[in-house]
Amino acid sequence: MRIVLLGTGGYHPNDRRHTACLMLPESGIIFDAGTSFFRVPQYMQTRDLQIFLTHAHLDHIVGLSFFLVPMLTGQVDSVKVYGEASKLDAIQAHLFSEEIFPLLPDYEFITLPEQVSVPEQGTLRHINLEHPGGSVGYRIDWPGHSLAYVTDTSHPEQHLEFVKGVDLLIHECYFPDEQAEWADKTGHSHTTPVAELARDAGVGKLVLTHIDPQQTGDDPVGIEVAQKLFPNTILGEDLMEIEF
Ligand SMILES: [Zn+2]
Ligand SMILES: [Zn+2]
Repeated sequence: MRIVLLGTGGYHPNDRRHTACLMLPESGIIFDAGTSFFRVPQYMQTRDLQIFLTHAHLDHIVGLSFFLVPMLTGQVDSVKVYGEASKLDAIQAHLFSEEIFPLLPDYEFITLPEQVSVPEQGTLRHINLEHPGGSVGYRIDWPGHSLAYVTDTSHPEQHLEFVKGVDLLIHECYFPDEQAEWADKTGHSHTTPVAELARDAGVGKLVLTHIDPQQTGDDPVGIEVAQKLFPNTILGEDLMEIEF
């Protein structure tokens, strides 16, 4: 399996990172629709897409308004957008309000059921996360592979059971440990608790994403701190492709 990190930044884009969107091109599965969602068409390999939104903060949804051309020109047959009911309502009422973006692309909005079937015999489940307004984390289990995507949350230890044993954990790490106090205030994570989660949950690999856009250098979160606790940790970068 292959996942492409289309966007690895939090809050707003910068010269290095666009905001959240991850894609499994062969399966047509997408997580979040941040500013990097404009990159989806060039990676599309299926005519049906399933988009799973973690929540409706702008850095995770604004890209839904970028998809009009692929839809109008018939590059896809169906696009299902999954999320919590209150978030989907807010998107339709506000992002696609007459004054903001007057043409609603032909999305099928679906309130997240407990389980969703995805291609290659996969089953997707979600968990509620602590974050202002709430967010959900996702896990997909296929025969022989598994993946979890957890972003916009301040207490990594709370979803230990949910991510247990996944081959690949993609987890937010907005702040380095030095800014732990800000992590709590803003509902985001910092390095040590994320790496401890990966270690304690026995995951195969940890990828850090949703990085503070004010940090544009090569080591925004203290990667060595994470690798000391969980050696198989890497920092996500835009357009990175990961096999798992
Ligand atoms: Zn975010
Ligand atoms: Zn958020």
